[in-house]
Amino acid sequence: MAETYPNCPDCGKEALCPHCRERATYQTPFDKFFWCAQAHWWRCSCYTGSKDVPVNPIGTNVDSGAHGGAKPKTSDLLYAVVTCEARRAHADAQRSTWTKDVTTADVRFFLARQNREPLADEVFLDVDDGYDGLAAKVREVCRWTVARGYTRMLKLDDDVVLFPGRVINPLAADYAGWKQEPAFYNYCSGLAYWLSRKAMMVLACAELTAETAEDRWVGTTLHNAGIRAESCLKIQWFGKISSRKDLPGNTRARLSSCWVAGEFAPHELKHVYVW
Ligand SMILES: [Zn+2]
Ligand SMILES: [Zn+2]
Repeated sequence: MAETYPNCPDCGKEALCPHCRERATYQTPFDKFFWCAQAHWWRCSCYTGSKDVPVNPIGTNVDSGAHGGAKPKTSDLLYAVVTCEARRAHADAQRSTWTKDVTTADVRFFLARQNREPLADEVFLDVDDGYDGLAAKVREVCRWTVARGYTRMLKLDDDVVLFPGRVINPLAADYAGWKQEPAFYNYCSGLAYWLSRKAMMVLACAELTAETAEDRWVGTTLHNAGIRAESCLKIQWFGKISSRKDLPGNTRARLSSCWVAGEFAPHELKHVYVW
């Protein structure tokens, strides 16, 4: 992000971070949010709209409710698996297959706070662990990820297979994945999508809406901020586990050329990863 936004476009006030006094490096295209290079974020005092989204004007972590993630940061690229406690078998199937082979990115599993300590690769968030909490969960994941300086994220569901050796260059697009048709939908299926730092910043301070489907909320929010969904054909969707008896006959051939595919039951995941 080379652009700087030294002044609020509405009141003309200098956009200085209230914590570190650095100038803003990014402004969201809505609601007068500014970000400094240290990932502090604040709103211009001239903003008078809804204030449902918290700000961190005193420089506290954006995600002060997050707990865990003990593993050290080793990369600027994060593979963020969004999961929940009820689907532990899915997450464990990923751990026993592809996540242990990832060497060029960090992998973290995100779920709601539990009555146990998080594993080293888990981050607990102050959100609901159910399906209706998914949009809020993804927003918290974006806050966590931006605050820790990651520049790109691949958001993943807990029932996908990823082939670590194939993901050589992360896509440069702000937002890309298994794009839904027709094109005006502007959203990528939740199984896997790439987000740039700019896209994560937009999502981090966006309002939640009545939309409970996380992928649609992400697509609509980014679209409202002028960010288009792009196709990444290396991400393939094989349909719902519940709506098929067996894997489609062409599964192996389709898998041979993709980076990420879903969705798979835990026993299927072990099978398809070694193909
Ligand atoms: Zn202003
Ligand atoms: Zn700052």
